[in-house]
Amino acid sequence: VYIYLGCTLSQSFNPDFHHSPVIKMGWLHKTPPQGTLVFQKRWVMLDAQYLRYFQNEKEVYSKRIIAILSVTKVLNVGGQKFEVVTRNRTFLFRAENNSKLLKETIQQHCNSMEKSLMNSSDTRGQRASRVSLISKQGYLEMSGLRSKLYVVICADSVFLYRNAEEHSQGVGITSIEMNLGTVKGTDKRSFNLTTIYRTFSFVAESEQQREQWVEVLQACVSHSLSSNAVAQKIWSEEANQRCADCGAPHPDWASVNLCVVLCKCCAGVHRGLGQSVSKVRSLKMDENAWTENQLFLLLGNDKVNLFWAANIPPSEMLCPSSDSEERQRFVTAKYCQGKYRCYHALFGQQEALNKALCNTIQTGDVLETLSLVFCGADVNCYTGDPELPSPVSVAQHYGQTLQVEFLTHNHNTGRSNETKAALPISHTGYLFKTASSTRAVTEHFSRRWCSLNQGNFSYYESEKSSSQSGQMKMSDVLCLVVNPQGKHGYGHSFELYHDSGRVYLFGEDSPDTVREWIKVIGKALVPPVAEDLVGWSFERVGRLRYTVGQSFHCPCLGWFSLGGSRLLLLLHGEDQVDNIDLRKLQELSVEQEAGAVVLVDRGRRLRLEGDRRPDYQGWLSGIQQGLGRGDGPLDQQQLTETEVPVIVDRCISYITQHGLKSEGIYRRCGVNSKIAALLLSLRHDARQVRLSEGVCQVDNVANVLKRFLREVGEGVFNGHQASLPWLHTTSDERRERVSQYKALLHSLPPVNRATLGAVINHLYCVQCFADENQMNMHNLAIVFGPTLFQTDGTDNSAGQVVEELIQNYQDIFNVSGSAVSAEELVCEVLRRGNIPPQQGDYWSCFLVNDNQEMERPLHYQERALAIYFSLGKDCHLVVKRNCYMEAMLIYIAAMVDVSRNSMIKFSDEKGQRGKRTFSRRLCVLDGTSLRLYKEVKVTEDGRRMCSTQPERECQVHALKVYYGIKKRLQPPSCWGMTVVCEQAERDKQQWYLCCESKNELIKWLATFMNLQVVSFCVTETYSTFLTAVVKPSKFRHRAFCSCHYGNSGGQ
Ligand SMILES: [Zn+2]
Repeated sequence: VYIYLGCTLSQSFNPDFHHSPVIKMGWLHKTPPQGTLVFQKRWVMLDAQYLRYFQNEKEVYSKRIIAILSVTKVLNVGGQKFEVVTRNRTFLFRAENNSKLLKETIQQHCNSMEKSLMNSSDTRGQRASRVSLISKQGYLEMSGLRSKLYVVICADSVFLYRNAEEHSQGVGITSIEMNLGTVKGTDKRSFNLTTIYRTFSFVAESEQQREQWVEVLQACVSHSLSSNAVAQKIWSEEANQRCADCGAPHPDWASVNLCVVLCKCCAGVHRGLGQSVSKVRSLKMDENAWTENQLFLLLGNDKVNLFWAANIPPSEMLCPSSDSEERQRFVTAKYCQGKYRCYHALFGQQEALNKALCNTIQTGDVLETLSLVFCGADVNCYTGDPELPSPVSVAQHYGQTLQVEFLTHNHNTGRSNETKAALPISHTGYLFKTASSTRAVTEHFSRRWCSLNQGNFSYYESEKSSSQSGQMKMSDVLCLVVNPQGKHGYGHSFELYHDSGRVYLFGEDSPDTVREWIKVIGKALVPPVAEDLVGWSFERVGRLRYTVGQSFHCPCLGWFSLGGSRLLLLLHGEDQVDNIDLRKLQELSVEQEAGAVVLVDRGRRLRLEGDRRPDYQGWLSGIQQGLGRGDGPLDQQQLTETEVPVIVDRCISYITQHGLKSEGIYRRCGVNSKIAALLLSLRHDARQVRLSEGVCQVDNVANVLKRFLREVGEGVFNGHQASLPWLHTTSDERRERVSQYKALLHSLPPVNRATLGAVINHLYCVQCFADENQMNMHNLAIVFGPTLFQTDGTDNSAGQVVEELIQNYQDIFNVSGSAVSAEELVCEVLRRGNIPPQQGDYWSCFLVNDNQEMERPLHYQERALAIYFSLGKDCHLVVKRNCYMEAMLIYIAAMVDVSRNSMIKFSDEKGQRGKRTFSRRLCVLDGTSLRLYKEVKVTEDGRRMCSTQPERECQVHALKVYYGIKKRLQPPSCWGMTVVCEQAERDKQQWYLCCESKNELIKWLATFMNLQVVSFCVTETYSTFLTAVVKPSKFRHRAFCSCHYGNSGGQ
């Protein structure tokens, strides 16, 4: 049965009509009773006794009224939804899709409901009395409805239910307050119940029944009027006939400590501030609490407002039709912050205030007491009189009962910790504005006086206009867009995207004017913690919903600002603004269907949701423009983490993997059509291009790199002018020129510098294989000179410069100083291999000899690159799991003495001429040194005697321990280790020590490791075996990264 008691007010809703102050109201979506999942938008209102929902915000009579007492629980069921559960029915609500603060709204609703539920324990008694207050109940026909309604007259309200069951379940249609109603019989069986909003026509079952109903209803009306007695008395003071805050008539609530009489709406806000600020009482319901009405008669709203509302700017005045947000803001400012109060002359002088208070309370001047207390006097201060220590006792002593009442009400109000108001943002001035539209239109600008104040942006015909021609709350503005200069006909313009989907366009020719507006609007738009978002030359700033990771549910609200390639963001719950360089995004995908865009940045997946709103399109195209363009100069390209254009990086990686040994690499010409096509696709979106191995492919890729470098805007050397000093270095001396190159390199923009470094590094690598590829430094320089300098090649100075750059690569680019530690290297390899850390696995970077016979895990702090450059061609670096590590750590954990001595099989290089060169030694390792003792003899009882002088000795710090022994030495077991002793540069020795079991080896290795600092490895780990290999020769880490990249198992 669909029952709709349509009755709307022409003006905005007047909740004056309800009994209790409204705790919360707003739009929510609700499933219809049929249980389909189509949500309907409903205006929902919660007070202490009932949860009601309405067709819309102007409706007077609800569609449904749910007694809080019948609610058993409120469940936050995730996402934007919550359930209100009664014994018989569950109501599912969802916060509005475009609601400003989804989660907060739901949470608040839930909290409010919970609170009401909690309070219902106090109202149980009331319920009992409510039941007894039912003066009549039964079925009645109502005109316009086919089925009868179950009508209950209770106290001074009439409740309508669909049936008697609903009544017992506490879920009804609506309630009609009778205090302003009249009842009249119209026919034999019918009668009208008339309120100021509408007339309800009922038909009783019989004439007799009709008479009973009318009689009871009339009694109900007079009862409701009689409960006005207190109110009437309070209202006898004329100043109390209007709400102290908004001026609404017949205010029937009061704040007993602030001494103001209030309307229901304002009382609701007061209640929200908490008892410590405002103690709210009903004039009608809390009859017993009204002994203090004398105080209200003495003071009255007008006199009290002389204090509280001494300085209200007209723009901030509240009126009866103000909405709840304005009310909230005003009431908070007025009472919490004391923003409009009349400051007492003694303000700020605590001692003097307290003293004045103690004097004033002896008199009848409650108003002065109020002024003192709310300007900082301490109600609980010590009076100096041990007989009458507190102000209350003084007032009692002097018989000032009203003073006592006032002091008592403010006994525990927290005046001392007043909240400091944030510096209010306000700005005014003329701007040209178009009519708002769903898109920004360019014509019909008109000049308007604009004002930003207290989070409200309003505009007027002129400075002198008193009534605004339009207004928007900053909290409803989704996005501020700064237009490029000259767009829309004005020198400078900006757009505001409103929650309603409308766009407002403002313009001015003066850049300063617009800049100032953008600054203040930006600040007013974002939360204070997000101020960094607007402290730069952004192009747009605003809020968007987003999810992080794979979760599609529960989007949060984040703040973003975008300009060029920079996206700043403040995610929900964070207190620091984060920064994304869009050029370095790992991935960007647009979900056209869903209206969302997914960004992957440094491994983090961020999905921005657009809701198909106009502002989203702007975000999307702004982000896409910031990604980097293949046809732009270097610094507008897609970039790697190291600021090298992705195109360059892709090509170099490919050649490193497949082309280093290719004869004539970079000199052969490749297939022109393929080169052009490949370059085109790389320029379109380099990140999406995967270069696959194929015939001639290396030459095509090599030519793509050359062509890109030759054609890229401004070139690697940042334009013709900037490239000249490179070509005309003045010195003949190599050293001089190298330092000049260094200085020039330093003056390049970061992306150019990184690109040049990557290219020269690559050429350095290529020439390392000159034996195979026939491309030595000189040959490469002939090719790359004109390419990098973008010259025609007639002048060979370009080639000379490039040759010198390659020649002095390590010097100029400071490669030897590169401080990549073994740990950083391992982490980087694991990151690139996308290997998540796992418990119980240990990764190390190993220095491995060519036959993989011996390997040494680098200490985590060792400089991997320095070692790498020092390697001979028969060694390489490998990042892999350290299979001994776990056992070693277990041994170390149980170790008592950090030393070891036992017999061990020993050999050294000198012994390799003959076979079976391993012989027994006593091996002693402690904190100082490793010592080997020759066996002298075996005693009769089997004890082995050793010489007292060590045969060999090496300081612990000079030892490097490798796992394994060269096979050609024919070690007696496979549990060997090679100890390299570097005590003196000229005295580098290798000792070969061989254990009898794995366990024995682990004990030795663990002891070595423990003595040489425990952390050898990265403790983050992995279960499957994966190795990244650094190839031999002398080029930079780029080489092994690319070896590894996309090729996670191999060499
Ligand atoms: Zn009010």
